[in-house]
Amino acid sequence: LISSPKSSELHVIHIAAEIAPVAKVGGLGDVVTGLGKALQRRGHLVEIILPKYDCMQYELIRDLRALDAVVESYFDGRLHKNKIWTGTVEGLPVYFIEPHHPGNFFWRGQFYGEHDDFKRFSFFSRAALELLIQAGKKPDIIHCHDWQTAFVAPLYWDIYAPKGLNSARLCFTCHNFEYQGTAPASELASCGLDVHHLNRPDRIQDNSAHDRVNPIKGGIVFSNIVTTVSPTYAQEVRTAEGGRGLHATLNSHAKKFVGILNGIDTDAWNPARDTFLKVQYSAFDTQGKTENKEALRRKLGLSSANIGQPLVGCITRLVPQKGVHLIRHALYRTLELGGQFILLGSSPVSHIQREFEDIANQFQSHENARLLLKYDESLARFIYAASDMVVIPSIFEPCGLTQMIAMRYGSIPIVRKTGGLNDSVFDVDDDTIPEEFRNGFTFLTADEQRCVIFVFSTCAEFGSSAGI
Ligand code: ADP
Repeated sequence: LISSPKSSELHVIHIAAEIAPVAKVGGLGDVVTGLGKALQRRGHLVEIILPKYDCMQYELIRDLRALDAVVESYFDGRLHKNKIWTGTVEGLPVYFIEPHHPGNFFWRGQFYGEHDDFKRFSFFSRAALELLIQAGKKPDIIHCHDWQTAFVAPLYWDIYAPKGLNSARLCFTCHNFEYQGTAPASELASCGLDVHHLNRPDRIQDNSAHDRVNPIKGGIVFSNIVTTVSPTYAQEVRTAEGGRGLHATLNSHAKKFVGILNGIDTDAWNPARDTFLKVQYSAFDTQGKTENKEALRRKLGLSSANIGQPLVGCITRLVPQKGVHLIRHALYRTLELGGQFILLGSSPVSHIQREFEDIANQFQSHENARLLLKYDESLARFIYAASDMVVIPSIFEPCGLTQMIAMRYGSIPIVRKTGGLNDSVFDVDDDTIPEEFRNGFTFLTADEQRCVIFVFSTCAEFGSSAGI
């Protein structure tokens, strides 16, 4: 359990709920792995702590083994044993915590969306700190992510720093302020936090329901630095419209709050080495892109009659944030304009999932459209490679990685100008941006009719630039 960095380097511990590719729901997983690898390349010692979920992709963890040491952690008035596993994910050392709590917290067949998520992750946050103190680690930075591990910040200062785990400064990154994990204040006591002391307006009390606590607010108040995933989103969440009730908290902690644009791991996302593709290719030789387009059309039973027929891809969680009404509209308009459309996505929201299942059925043998309502990493890569354009009409988007992956795979992003999309995609016609930085198409209104005109002109422009 003991490893120490060389003296000049930093020892960084990430405590998170996701890590790509073994436990990934969305961009958080990509960022934990990508950031970890980037820090590691700079010589820092990076270690990651995750729950040991039953539904992880175990075959992608190298050298997974259980340690002899058992870590006991407090929850609901007593100590619980945790089995600790270690393994390597994409070259990063990871500790997986397997609680022996009767609640079977991470044995649910899914990462999130359980009725007791607050309990599951407050338990995990405490167990992670217990692991650090019992292993005698002296990290320089503890970096926690999103509400699931935001409990680490108050736990650290109120319980673990007094016990001697006090070498670290805390960084909290909020990847999406929509998810705050609020719960009745009394639930905070389970992990050993003092409800009376913390359920106050300047601490963890939710800003709109005073009998509830808000883990994200706790992360903001109790961390040394708070980051979010793009500069534009950092500005948006400091306004009443964008802050989801936390704008006042963010404004009063403005000095330690910063937006830093995410990036993608260009090794993990590399069409020249991506083995999920039919043919590898690079920016210097894009012939392979056409072959992938052909192959994907065949695989999905789409028409291959015209190689120049534009193919629009969309790879997303189908949640209101992603502009589902605009996605639906883009599908119909692309077809009207003679393009092809492939959607890969699934929804945790049952009425959205049902709505898209109906549309998927409608198009199940259509020659120009296919909807695949599932999570599928290999198919996602294939679609990035095969598409001419990727559409991302988000209502709000903290950063967004799909536009960056699309660009890496030579697909032109079509995005709504919000959050990190505004910081990474620059319209081909925007004279305020130097020409060499213009890399896609952007639009602002979230109104279907305007979007329609936009998609129309985009396809037309694409068609003419591709000589179609
Ligand atoms: P978010 O984190 O809000 O879901 P991001 O754009 O930051 O959005 O990251 C999404 C990540 O999840 C990307 O790596 C994208 O390729 C991946 N992804 C989204 N939906 C699917 C899906 N249905 N199948 C495979 N990968 C998906």
